[in-house]
Amino acid sequence: MENDLIVKDGTKIAIIGGGPAGTSFAIKLLKESQKKGIRPKVIIFEGKDFNIHYNQCVGVLSPPIEEIFINSLEIPFPTELVKREISGYIIHPSGGPSLKISRGLGTYATRRILFDRFMLKEAKNLGAEIINSRVTAVEFFNEKEVRIYSEGKFLRVDAVVGGFGLDEATASVFEKASSNTFKYKRPEKALETIITKIHVPKEIIEGNLKSMIHAFLLKNIKKIEFGAITPKGDHIIINIAGKNVSSSDMDLFLNQPETKEILGEIEFKELDYFKGIYPIKPAKGVIGNRFVAIGDATGWIRPYKGKGINVAIETGTKAAEVVLNYGFSKKALMKYLDYFKPLKKDYIYGKIFRTLVIFSLRTGFIKEILKISKEDEKINESIYMAVSGEGKYKEVLEKIFSFNSFFKISKGFLNFYLKKFNRNK
Ligand SMILES: Cc1cc2nc3c(=O)[nH]c(=O)nc-3n(C[C@H](O)[C@H](O)[C@H](O)COP(=O)(O)OP(=O)(O)OC[C@H]3O[C@@H](n4cnc5c(N)ncnc54)[C@H](O)[C@@H]3O)c2cc1C
Repeated sequence: MENDLIVKDGTKIAIIGGGPAGTSFAIKLLKESQKKGIRPKVIIFEGKDFNIHYNQCVGVLSPPIEEIFINSLEIPFPTELVKREISGYIIHPSGGPSLKISRGLGTYATRRILFDRFMLKEAKNLGAEIINSRVTAVEFFNEKEVRIYSEGKFLRVDAVVGGFGLDEATASVFEKASSNTFKYKRPEKALETIITKIHVPKEIIEGNLKSMIHAFLLKNIKKIEFGAITPKGDHIIINIAGKNVSSSDMDLFLNQPETKEILGEIEFKELDYFKGIYPIKPAKGVIGNRFVAIGDATGWIRPYKGKGINVAIETGTKAAEVVLNYGFSKKALMKYLDYFKPLKKDYIYGKIFRTLVIFSLRTGFIKEILKISKEDEKINESIYMAVSGEGKYKEVLEKIFSFNSFFKISKGFLNFYLKKFNRNK
């Protein structure tokens, strides 16, 4: 190990971003270094005040979140944050009928702002210094140090951790700072999302939604790839996603007969809409001498159903483990890259799956697939895996393309196409 690129007493590590990835890195590094009797200095820069600012998110924690908390963070899962236990998914295609899929419990709806506060407090209690300030520029001196400019403080540190999510301005900061070295490049393509929170009468949550996440695959609104309604304690979260979705797509979504059937004739006045993005392509240059990106900044989340918080915790804790045990040279950090290779590899399968979904959505064939899945266990399982985020896209496609299931889908498609052809004659 290069002697100046390892964690020792007094080594300064700055984490840019106090979201789930950044805080997980801090928690893991501080806990493990305590066990080794080393005392590094961990500093988290967080631009938001989690008492008033939100990281846009539905706040659903998916399995195996409890194991991730215990195994990766060594913290019991904070059940006090759970607003509702989710028992499954109902998929609504245009014009119905819907498909209900559930496989036991272990999915939890939380309030993201409370989750972020919890994680930041855990990191602080372990000794991380929190600087409530936005980082505006970074300079890498590979032989010596990293210099960090922020709105409040200037720091010289030994290594920097990129836990800044998909923040465009911060991605630009790192792209510029690394242009002559490791060449960080943000996840190129992204799906845009719009999200809103609505307080609705209790009967709608308990009577219509019933602890299920309702996913909508609607044909009519071209720009929306999917939409969902998620029940929380006393409110619901509605989100839509697509290549270039805008607030008018959300207005349209809220007024579709399929959504109205669940929400009733509520008047949607003065709703606050928030915009976010999902990466659908991995970032480049995620490691370098004195640098490692974690969480969304890597773009490694599943391209359709993200499980972003799980990935943020897993990448954050794994990066901390590698940094502590092997150091923060680019060579040492290759161990971190190698560990997450399977996640990156699944991108191509995710892309194929997404193309298939968009095709079936636009042609209306999705209804046939949902119908077939009621009789075909493998297709049913693959839909569950895709919607819940459990299992890799490779496994989802393997199930769809297994001989029997593929035969049924092909037969269904032929019938669907012939019916359409006859109608158009
Ligand atoms: C609409 C939407 C809904 C989602 N729903 C879910 C869900 O239900 N479940 C799930 O698991 N995932 C969900 N995700 C994905 C999930 O939110 C992310 O994958 C996860 O938050 C990634 O964590 P992170 O720590 O990498 O980044 P983030 O959570 O984005 O945290 C990055 C932090 O860095 C800070 N930051 C950025 N730049 C700077 C700077 N220059 N200086 C200081 N601080 C900075 C930001 O303020 C932020 O707090 C959703 C995403 C979107 C867009």
